[in-house]
Amino acid sequence: MSFLSLCSTESIRDAALALKNRHLVAFPTETVYGLGADATNSEAIARIYEVKGRPSDHPLIVHIASMNGLGEWSREIPEYAISLARDFWPGPLTLVLKRSELAQDFITGGQATVGLRVPAHPVALSLINEFIAIGGKGIAAPSANRFGAVSPTTATAVEEELATYLQSGDLILDGGQSLIGLESTIVDCTGPAPMILRLGAITPLMIEESTGLVALESNPSAIRVSGSLNSHYSPKAKVLLDVVAEAGDGLIAPDQIPTPNGVIRLSAPSSIEQYARELYQALRKADQLGLNLVVVLQPGGDGLAAAIRDRLQRSAFVE
Ligand code: AMP
Ligand code: MG
Repeated sequence: MSFLSLCSTESIRDAALALKNRHLVAFPTETVYGLGADATNSEAIARIYEVKGRPSDHPLIVHIASMNGLGEWSREIPEYAISLARDFWPGPLTLVLKRSELAQDFITGGQATVGLRVPAHPVALSLINEFIAIGGKGIAAPSANRFGAVSPTTATAVEEELATYLQSGDLILDGGQSLIGLESTIVDCTGPAPMILRLGAITPLMIEESTGLVALESNPSAIRVSGSLNSHYSPKAKVLLDVVAEAGDGLIAPDQIPTPNGVIRLSAPSSIEQYARELYQALRKADQLGLNLVVVLQPGGDGLAAAIRDRLQRSAFVE
């Protein structure tokens, strides 16, 4: 059975109805594809955990249509969080705030906070708007991959990853390739200053410029993120960072690095944006080709490059 659907006005309306009927709808965002469900319905949310194979104490991000959703889903919103929402929504930024009674334990993993984001993708936004028009409040959507695997950046990747776990009535909306290709920046807004929980395309500098506050960065090992170091964002192939690739290995590296003889070039990005956009697709390709080893030369620099290195270090094989 194929779950893929194009994004006509009609099919987006059908997808909103499917959500209301407790089905799952995978949909494109500018970061990666999300696996969506009605954020107020515990049965629908239980299916997300089942399909992803994810432990149920991991919180989900609620996708809302605009800043209006902030007041519904959260409370005691600090001034600097309003500033971040105003400057970067719609966009690749998730705000963690004190939850309202709308955000129940099955969304927050039992925590007193809720993660909220307005995605910058026309299909995602119209899906959320259609869903709200028929009484929905928000769409919970983690990345549409099995727990620990690489996030999908195309509808085909979602289908390959999840089709065997989906049911009749579930849908995958095809909105093309995700433009950013890395998951959203997550900022904890429950303290006196923004605390960055996950790096992404919205950089610490952008956060500081927006809020006038120094953004703290939480110790990555203290974050409640999914999986252990060697099993998150991971393809089946081993990922080795910054070593010399040998014949038969896959290689992901900036375009000025030549491909040694016998090495399979998976990506040769000419910019940091292209590096982010192609990374997950390149890791998937390694598995499709049945490679045992992928060598990745990490990009230098801060901002988006630091976010890429963060994901690579989690996906790399650790002895
Ligand atoms: P994903 O949606 O797959 O990109 O991953 C969602 C991630 O968002 C989780 O692994 C958490 O790290 C983070 N997250 C979502 N909600 C919260 C929250 N209330 N507090 C802290 N982190 C959160
Ligand atoms: Mg994920």
